[in-house]
Amino acid sequence: MNALPDIPALAAADEAVYTKLWEGLGYYSRVRNLHRAAVLLCEEYGGELPADYDRLLALPGVGEYTAGAVASIAFGLPVPAVDGNVLRVAARLDNDFTPITDAKFKKQTRERFAALMPSDRSGDLNQSLMELGATVCLPNGAPRCADCPIQHLCESFHRGNAAVLPLRAAKKARRVENRTVLLVRCGELVGLRQRPKKGLLAGLWELPSLDGHLSPDELRAALTEMGWSVRKLLSLRPAKHIFTHVEWHMNGVYVELDAPAPALTFVTPAELRDAYALPSAFRSFVSVLED
Ligand code: SF4
Repeated sequence: MNALPDIPALAAADEAVYTKLWEGLGYYSRVRNLHRAAVLLCEEYGGELPADYDRLLALPGVGEYTAGAVASIAFGLPVPAVDGNVLRVAARLDNDFTPITDAKFKKQTRERFAALMPSDRSGDLNQSLMELGATVCLPNGAPRCADCPIQHLCESFHRGNAAVLPLRAAKKARRVENRTVLLVRCGELVGLRQRPKKGLLAGLWELPSLDGHLSPDELRAALTEMGWSVRKLLSLRPAKHIFTHVEWHMNGVYVELDAPAPALTFVTPAELRDAYALPSAFRSFVSVLED
């Protein structure tokens, strides 16, 4: 908020600036969508958010929950804002055993609360439902029914099912990827590379890495084949990073080079800290630079 205090400031910001500000927060597509939305708002709405649910919903990165929350809380429009908390409250209120992860259940819950929206204070109703879920109708089988202001309306409480609801579809197991991550130094400089424009961590800077957990001999051979003049290899502490669908199991290696490797961009540790957005997956390896 200090660096980019309003929509026009965000719209005018360079990619390197807003991705750096977002550094470590994950889900980098969100900041790209925020920027795209800011540009669109400046082009079409004079740099202001429109007071209209459908127009909000059409903005990049804005889904039904966000559009409903902004429309009702900021503009007082009578539309629901259904987040995970509200889905849980709805399943318990109605003693509904449909998995709350089903699109059908989400749609039905939005319609259920849309019908209840008052013409005034819709934002307060939405916030009270979210707050009820966040503080009283707690997840993981621990609802505080004795403290609940809508206990008298709650079907699952009366049937003794509050602790077993809601149901959710089983999550797919995450794919595990083994990687050998390289903290490359050439003199004082650190070697970085930019990720592809599409896919996981799209367009961000990263420490270079190779597929698999390579032995020192395998790594030295692979780097030599890539034309790198390796002076020294040292093992770093391994690290694990969990994304939504994939886990990286990373062996870290400190690589000292005699000459910069052509495929990499070399920066000073200060430039890396101040100007390059490095995903938190690499944080433990880069912390070596601060020792
Ligand atoms: Fe949730 Fe219990 Fe309240 Fe029902 S009575 S809404 S299960 S906290």
